[in-house]
Formats: sequence, structure tokens, C-alpha cells
Amino acid sequence: MHTDLVAALDIGGTKIAGALVDGDGSLLVRAQRPTPAQEGAEAVMGAVDEVLGELMASPLWDRAGSMGIGSAGPVDAAAGTVSPVNVPGWRDFPLVERVHKAAGGLSVVLVGDGVAMTAAEHWLGAAGGYDNALCLVVSTGVGGGLVLGGTLRPGPSGNAGHIGHISVDLDGAPCPCGARGCVEGIASGPNIARRALENGWRPGPDGDATAAAVAVAARAGDPVAIASYERAAQALAAGIAATATLADLDIAVVGGGVAGAGDVLFVPLRRSLREYATLSYLRRLTVAPAVMGTDAGLVGAAAAAIALR
Ligand SMILES: [Zn+2]
Repeated sequence: MHTDLVAALDIGGTKIAGALVDGDGSLLVRAQRPTPAQEGAEAVMGAVDEVLGELMASPLWDRAGSMGIGSAGPVDAAAGTVSPVNVPGWRDFPLVERVHKAAGGLSVVLVGDGVAMTAAEHWLGAAGGYDNALCLVVSTGVGGGLVLGGTLRPGPSGNAGHIGHISVDLDGAPCPCGARGCVEGIASGPNIARRALENGWRPGPDGDATAAAVAVAARAGDPVAIASYERAAQALAAGIAATATLADLDIAVVGGGVAGAGDVLFVPLRRSLREYATLSYLRRLTVAPAVMGTDAGLVGAAAAAIALR
């Protein structure tokens, strides 16, 4: 049988998406369901089964030779289980085994969503052509993944590159993960908004108090909004510099909703990086915005299946 396609699943806290992906990264067939995140384990799996059912009903399904899953973390790739923070019904849920059975025995590769995004950016996006890359997703949380020596490196658990829970403030605020002063606690969208509000920024008449609204205020010159983004950029820079110093990186690619702030984030990020990434071998380190957009999860799941099978 001619198996030139890869089936992909992107499991998130709000939606479960699936696709059949070709060798150029094009999504030929798509399916999507909302994640019933507050329901039990079998209800969430039911949504996955519906997405799979739509893919399997396609005449192209027989061309799928393997399956890649990118899931909100944490994941345990060795055990084939997922425990997405925003899906309380799934704790150590045996997703790989369930999908393997439901998909007629297709081989399944599981990675965290940050690793999937990294695979997508390395295959077709901003990290293309770079052998040593850290890709970050800065959104409700902060995740990431690593390409080293030209190869996606998810680590045995599928979580390598999870930069959001590197501590950059030794005595900083306690993090829900149990540590202190994590990158995520300073640089995530909700924390950018929280810090701006705490320091006196107020949303406009539309009441929008998200990081995106803080970015609009920063662009208009609001000093508190600017300072909140500068602090987030500083935390990201410290985390990127630490990773680059350890792993000898060529590029850091930054995506996720917070990266949509553009220069409001990237100008102070590049400035702070010059303060933290100081050694001679880090001079080549560049920072670029992610380019893969909303399909990065699906393209990345497929890319991970190709890279790791
Ligand atoms: Zn943490």
C-alpha cells in the first residue's frame, strides 16, 4: 500500500483537531471537535474518536502510514500517557494505546505540544535550515522544544525544551508546578496582564484585560504596559540564554499568542538577550517570530511522526 500521508492529532484544552498531512505539510483532510475538558475521561476520548472517525471515513485514510499526536502537557511519551493540565479528567490517560486501537493498529508517536510546534517550525517554518534551535510557545503557558544536531530531541518523556518551568528568579513567586520564579510565571499572557493591572494599567471601554490589550496600550506608549512586556521579555531572554549557553543554539523561535505583540515583545527580548547571552559562541544566536500559525500543532504532530518513527 502507498502510505505517503501521516495522520495528525492536536490535543488541546479547548479543541481536539485532526488531519491527514502530506509530505509537503499540506492538510488534506481536517476534523475538529471542542474538548469537553470538564467532563470525564471517556467523554474526552469520545471527542477524539469522533475526530478519528471523520479522518478514517476519508478515501485518503488508507494512505496514512503512521500517526503523530501533539498534546497539551505534561505527556509521558515512554508510557504513552497524557495528563493535560487543562483537562482534569485525563490523568495518566493511556492515549497512545487507545488511539492505536481506534486507528486500526497504526503506529503512534506522542509528543508534547511545544515539541510538536518545534517540529513544525523546523520542517517548514522559521527554524528551517537551522540545526540547533529552541522554539517557544508563549501563550496561556510557556512551552517549547529543541532541535539539536539537526534532529528533533523530545527526550524520553516527550517534554524536552519545556522552558516555561526553568527558574529565572531564585526567590520568585511560587509556581503551580512547585518551583519558584519560573519563566511562565513572569512571561505568560495571563501574567503579563496581571502585572500590568497590579501596576495601575486599566483596560479600555471594551473591558479587554488580556495580554493582547496590554500590547495595544504598550504600542500607544503606556509606560506600565511597556514595562510589563519588558519584564516578560527579560524572563524569556534569561531562559533562552540559559538554554543557548548549555546547548550551543543557532536560533530561538518565539510563537504563541503573546508573540503576536510583535515589536512590543521582540525589541526588549533582543535587547535583554544581549545582556544574558554574553559568551562569544552565543553571538550568532538569532531570535525570530514563529511563522506556522494556527496549524502548527497539526503540521508539527505529523512532522514529529516523520522525524521520530
Ligand atoms: Zn513552574
